[in-house]
Amino acid sequence: MSLMRGVLLALSENRRMRERGPQLWFVKRAARRFMPGETFEDMLTAAETLRPLGIDTVFTRLGENVTDAAEAASVTQHYLDVLYQIQLKKIRCEPSIKLTQLGLDLAKEQAYANLRTLAERAHATDNYLWIDMEQSHYVDVTLELALRLREEFPRVGVCLQAYLFRTKDDLVSMIEHGVGVRLVKGAYKEPPSVAYPAKRDVDNNFFGLSAAMLEGMERDNGFRAVFGTHDAALIARIRALAARAGVRPSDFEFHMLYGIQRGEQLRLVKEGADVRVLVAYGSFWFPWYMRRLAERPANVWFVLKSMFG
Ligand SMILES: Cc1cc2nc3c(=O)[nH]c(=O)nc-3n(C[C@H](O)[C@H](O)[C@H](O)COP(=O)(O)OP(=O)(O)OC[C@H]3O[C@@H](n4cnc5c(N)ncnc54)[C@H](O)[C@@H]3O)c2cc1C
Repeated sequence: MSLMRGVLLALSENRRMRERGPQLWFVKRAARRFMPGETFEDMLTAAETLRPLGIDTVFTRLGENVTDAAEAASVTQHYLDVLYQIQLKKIRCEPSIKLTQLGLDLAKEQAYANLRTLAERAHATDNYLWIDMEQSHYVDVTLELALRLREEFPRVGVCLQAYLFRTKDDLVSMIEHGVGVRLVKGAYKEPPSVAYPAKRDVDNNFFGLSAAMLEGMERDNGFRAVFGTHDAALIARIRALAARAGVRPSDFEFHMLYGIQRGEQLRLVKEGADVRVLVAYGSFWFPWYMRRLAERPANVWFVLKSMFG
């Protein structure tokens, strides 16, 4: 891991910086590159702008490691409200949530109760529920709760991270049980005992897992194959593999983040790929933004540029 990446990821987990960072005006200004604004309405406006371009949306209200049950309940209520609004507006916009935002650090069963309420509402409003993946020590519990949810609700998906050694086995289990998978490279600081330290190995593992996901489509059990990456070379390899295997481009998806690789998003849509963009909003954006900087440390220049006008 590069020194800069390590520093940025350490900052993302620093409690003081999580509180103070968002107050720094130049950081706030630079962060706007990756989020259209802090409110749900800002997210909706972005979603409405993307739709005519052929791009649907996934949305998330930023927040993690909630330490107060009332806050977890209020986050849950927020998602319950906006799921209705999305149905009324007839926008194709799927929620993606973090379990620690629903209170996982406080009590597993309470977090599950919140999650289940959201799955119920997502089901009732004909939507889909995505679960983000956080640090490696949350993987077991996240998959346990995703599987439990899938027993009741058919439209549930979870994020898996290609940098983890264990993901190959986790993927088999998710395919087996018809839980949708959004495969990403992984955004957190992980030790070499659990994750590939070299980017090349992560990329290779991602591609190997992609092949298993495309095969998983044959199961027809609700499994959904989503590749969450901006890596144009990897995307081209996955599309070529799918073409060779006879998997139609409309049977799998590419999800990217708002503000990253817009040209690639539009190019893929033009070529018939199914593309969604994840739009984040909310005021607790600091750790999330630090992870975006860590993914491409050159982004730090944007922060410096915004500092000097
Ligand atoms: C829809 C979606 C959901 C995600 N959910 C999770 C999650 O739940 N858990 C998790 O751990 N991670 C999540 N991630 C983040 C993911 O793990 C990676 O950190 C991130 O996507 C960068 O990896 P990459 O695949 O784009 O490849 P990289 O090799 O990192 O990047 C490929 C190219 O994309 C561009 N790029 C990538 N990142 C940036 C950036 N921040 N700024 C500017 N350009 C960039 C650059 O041109 C770069 O060369 C998610 C990513 C996406 C797209």
